Amino acid sequence: MTDSPIWHPFTQHGLGEPIPLVTHAEGATLFTRDGRRIVDAISSWWVTTHGHAHPRIGAAIAEQAGRLDQIIFAGWTHEPAEAVARDLIAIMPPELTRVFFSDSGSTSVEVALKMALGYWLHRGEPRHRILVLEHGYHGDTIGAMSIGARGAFNRAYQPLLFDVATIPFPAAGREQATLDALAAALRESPAALVVEPLIVGAGGMLTYPAWVLAEMRRLCADAGVLFIADEVMTGWGRTGTLLACEQAGVVPDILCLSKGLTGGAVPLAVTMAIEPIYQAHHAADRSRMFFHSSSYTANPIACAAAAANLAIWREEPVRERIASLADRQRTRLAALAQTPGVANPRQLGTIAAVDLPGGDGGYLSKRSPRLLAFFRERGLLLRPLGTTVYVMPPYCIGDNDLDAIYAAIAEAAAL
Ligand code: PMP
Repeated sequence: MTDSPIWHPFTQHGLGEPIPLVTHAEGATLFTRDGRRIVDAISSWWVTTHGHAHPRIGAAIAEQAGRLDQIIFAGWTHEPAEAVARDLIAIMPPELTRVFFSDSGSTSVEVALKMALGYWLHRGEPRHRILVLEHGYHGDTIGAMSIGARGAFNRAYQPLLFDVATIPFPAAGREQATLDALAAALRESPAALVVEPLIVGAGGMLTYPAWVLAEMRRLCADAGVLFIADEVMTGWGRTGTLLACEQAGVVPDILCLSKGLTGGAVPLAVTMAIEPIYQAHHAADRSRMFFHSSSYTANPIACAAAAANLAIWREEPVRERIASLADRQRTRLAALAQTPGVANPRQLGTIAAVDLPGGDGGYLSKRSPRLLAFFRERGLLLRPLGTTVYVMPPYCIGDNDLDAIYAAIAEAAAL
């Protein structure tokens, strides 16, 4: 595909790596134009939950495309959006009473930040300082980059990124330092704390305990500071429960969801908020409306896919599939952990990760492209974060495919 004019994301074209052309997909399997079968071990960037080309989601998209494809959402509405909002309210914590649509994980985070600042402004006590957790990743737009870890991903853009206060990651044995730093930062009247609950994703699949999340939430509530949970990766069962926050018994003031919202079929996001945040914007005064939109906000086809996803959650044994995948990952990870060179095995629900030796250069580690090529040759879509290899497959993946993934990682440890 060297003659293609396409400039791919997070891809260094100068390395001349092959870019496979995928013609179709089913379940956890991708099929390429040159006749190969590839196992999707990372759910195509963490989006595909039930499996590729799920018939119910595909049918809902086709039906909606023939009925109503697109309608401006400022001051207009449609049945698929109403259904998604109703069904989200029914399945998510009852405190989250409002649903704002956008198009991606990054935009759901931008919306969360704007809601938080609007809340404080309209209460008559403007605040803008944002607290974040070390190693965080929230997307690639300027606001989302600003609240994420600074480094290789965003070095060129740093002069444009706004300042945040970073709370140290609650690594094992250092949890109290995190909580102490948060308590100190909360005394400076920030607008909000933003966290990836229980596991930071792109920052290295690093986990931390539920009690720390619960304590962080309690400290924010006591200080009257908004608590924003970015569940863009962790939502929709990835961590073993519908939301990661559930495992800590916490409810955020603002919740960001995307990726698995449509089962991974089409782009859509929502930012859910507690009632006081909505009410702070609610007035007869037009200058207090929430000034955020994009052309395709709540696109009906995307909403139809999300409504189908929510129906699958209600009607199919999704939670059992998640529990089964978590078990199947656990036994294989335990065996992999015995392999020389494999370090820091960790798992949260359906997500498993290990570190391989040679983790020198972080994301840009020289070993990473070699690993990528090795997995590609094995017919596996695995995309290490530096030398951290993680497995986050669609819930329907078969045992043989899981075995092939783990066998390849064990072999890669010796590369
Ligand atoms: N938040 C988190 C926790 C993420 O993992 C991601 C994407 N990997 C995003 C936000 C950004 O989502 P998107 O790529 O859909 O903009």
